[in-house]
Amino acid sequence: MPHIVDHPLAQARLTTLRDAATDVPTFRRVMRELGAILAVEVTRDLTLARAPIATPLETTEAPVLAAPIPCLVSVLRAGEALLAGFLDVLAEAPVAHIGAYRDAKTLAAVEYFFKAPPDLGRRSAIVLDPMLATGGTAVAAVARVKRAGPRAIRFVSVLAAPEGVRALKAAHPDVEVWTVAVDRALDGHSYIVPGLGDAGDRAFGTG
Ligand code: URA
Repeated sequence: MPHIVDHPLAQARLTTLRDAATDVPTFRRVMRELGAILAVEVTRDLTLARAPIATPLETTEAPVLAAPIPCLVSVLRAGEALLAGFLDVLAEAPVAHIGAYRDAKTLAAVEYFFKAPPDLGRRSAIVLDPMLATGGTAVAAVARVKRAGPRAIRFVSVLAAPEGVRALKAAHPDVEVWTVAVDRALDGHSYIVPGLGDAGDRAFGTG
């Protein structure tokens, strides 16, 4: 099972995203807020180091994030809406992008772009895609990131279908998944139901 982020703020924000009456600016803002909440949850076990710091009163030692900071991987295009919130709370993170789309006929994931920091191999990676539907894109994206050799990979979505969770687990059992909810199923067009519709269209006003 994925890690379900059951924080009341996350659950309530997801309801706003589900609501068909939510307009584009609100959808984008709330997806960003969820990104920040998910970032806090998925980085709970980040390693800390101690560093000297001068407060206005004296010099002391205080916790800082230990290097290397994880690399965020945005799966274009809906991943961008989540990425904004991740960067609000983890601005130090480098960002990789994967361009992948779902072929309308075959439903297979087709990769058209990949750009990652050259040192991804010494970092862990957090892959961001709001919708874990069939799992096709997620499986392909994680496989692509694995080729860069990161220390570990985590996958973060806002909403998942049981089919996508199963597919990702079967292909990449080493990858832990965080999501806000697992919905009932996929419909005949591979949309998550009850779901929230097309996350990219709703975030960028292209629906
Ligand atoms: N992608 C989306 O944006 N929504 C779904 O329901 C499934 C895949």
